Amino acid sequence: LYVEEALAAGADVVLEGSQANYLKNVLRLAEGDQVLLFNGRDGEWRSRLSAIAKRRVTLVAEELVRPQQNAGDLWYVFAPLKHARLDYMVEKAVEMGASRLMPVFTRRTQASRVNGERMRANAIEAAEQCGILNVPGIAEPAPLEKVLDAWPPERTMIFCDEDAGAASAVETLAQAKPAGPLAVLVGPEGGFDESERARLLRLPSVVRLSLGPRILRADTAAVAALTVVQAVLGD
Ligand code: SAM
Repeated sequence: LYVEEALAAGADVVLEGSQANYLKNVLRLAEGDQVLLFNGRDGEWRSRLSAIAKRRVTLVAEELVRPQQNAGDLWYVFAPLKHARLDYMVEKAVEMGASRLMPVFTRRTQASRVNGERMRANAIEAAEQCGILNVPGIAEPAPLEKVLDAWPPERTMIFCDEDAGAASAVETLAQAKPAGPLAVLVGPEGGFDESERARLLRLPSVVRLSLGPRILRADTAAVAALTVVQAVLGD
C-alpha cells in the first residue's frame, strides 16, 4: 500500500478515507494483521494493524522488507490521450519501468488539458500492482517546443516515428547504442507534423525508431517502444 508518511521502525501510519475503507471493508483486516507499506523513499516496510476505528485505521511500521531501489532513469514523453486511454498509457509506462512521465502538447494532441492528480493516482496504483517501490515523477504538461528547447543534451531522445522506414527496432537501437540517459517519445493519434519532426531531428542526441510496418495506436506504441528499449538497452 502506498502512503505519504515517513517509514521507520515504530512509525505510526494513520489511514483514512478510501485506504482505511479498503483495509477495513475490502480486505476485512483485523487488529494484528500485517500490511506492506511503501512511500517511494524508505523502501518497503511490513506494518501491523494496531487500531481500527470508525473512519480510520492505524498501522505501526515494524520491519524493513525491501530496501529502496534506486529508480531506473527512463523518461516517457508523450502526447496525452483522452481519459481511459491516458489511464491505460500511464499504467503501462509505469509497468514498463518509466521513471518520469512527461505529457507534451503537440499540434495534433487531442487532450487540451491533463489531470495531473488523476495521472499520479494511476501511477501509484500501477506501482502498487506491479510491486515497484518508486512512483514515477509526473512533469507539468508543456508544449513540445518548450520541452525540446530545454532538453538536456546528454539525454538521448528515442523518437518513435512511423515514417522512420522499416529498419528493425532491435537493430536500430543496437546500432545506435546511445550512451547516457534515455527518453522515449510517442506522438498523438494524429501523429507529429513536419515541423515537429524536423525540430526533433535537430536534437543533439536522437534516435528515430520504427516499431514495424503497421501504424500502432499511441498507447500500443507506448508499450511496444518501452518494451524494446528496455530489452535492448536495459535501464
Ligand atoms: N501518423 C499516424 C497515422 O497516419 O495514422 C498516426 C500516429 S500513431 C497513431 C501515434 C504515435 O504512435 C506516432 O506519433 C508514433 O509516435 C507512434 N507510432 C505508431 N506506429 C508506429 C510505428 N510503426 N513505428 C514507430 N512509431 C509508431
